[in-house]
Amino acid sequence: MKKEINIIFFGAPGAGKGTQAKKISSKLNLPHIDTGNLIREAIINKTELGQRAQSFVESGKLVTDQLVIDLIREKLIVLKDRHYKGFILDGYPRTIPQANALGSLFGELNLELTNVINIQAPEDMLVKRLSSRRICTNKNCGAIYNLITKKPMTENKCDLCGSNLYQRKDDTEEAAHERLNEYNNKTAPLEKYYREKDKLTDIDGTKDPNNVYNEILRLVDSHK
Ligand code: AMP
Repeated sequence: MKKEINIIFFGAPGAGKGTQAKKISSKLNLPHIDTGNLIREAIINKTELGQRAQSFVESGKLVTDQLVIDLIREKLIVLKDRHYKGFILDGYPRTIPQANALGSLFGELNLELTNVINIQAPEDMLVKRLSSRRICTNKNCGAIYNLITKKPMTENKCDLCGSNLYQRKDDTEEAAHERLNEYNNKTAPLEKYYREKDKLTDIDGTKDPNNVYNEILRLVDSHK
């Protein structure tokens, strides 16, 4: 029987974990569970969760632990019921209580954590990447651009589908700084947490995204 692959993509905002998680999940055909995206969808759909999360997200703060703990619990229980091969968690856990809750959930569902991929980049690069990020408004496309390193061919238009691009409210320079503060205070301690469990692998996120992708793919393949 093939081994299940349960991976966490970890790193500061702007390190490239979303881009890489999306590519790896489509390559390996594994569900990509991205808490940031799930919360943004809930905000657009004005669900109770969305309404409770909105002001936190837009100012660059983390939402309260219980909100995301419940969200992930629901997702993983549903996944475990289906033909199960594993998953890619992107943006969760982000605090020690979230990591503890995930550990208990893994125990309850009889899952084993394969690896935590820690994508690293220096802070000045992170702020630059976040504040120059633009995203395609077409939900089915969602292509990501960068006004410095990956400019669209026509200003403010997606190269792939021609839709307009937008900037996330929490990608402004001010909100980006707040997100990095939150990361340093609440999320960075998880590095030690998973390193001590011998589950963390560092990846240099300053390299070209294709090189980063190939490195992650090699690592994931080694776990199969
Ligand atoms: P992201 O798209 O991963 O940058 O997440 C965007 C925002 O969603 C974050 O700045 C938080 O406000 C919220 N968020 C996403 N994941 C979490 C989490 N695990 N814990 C708390 N807040 C989260």
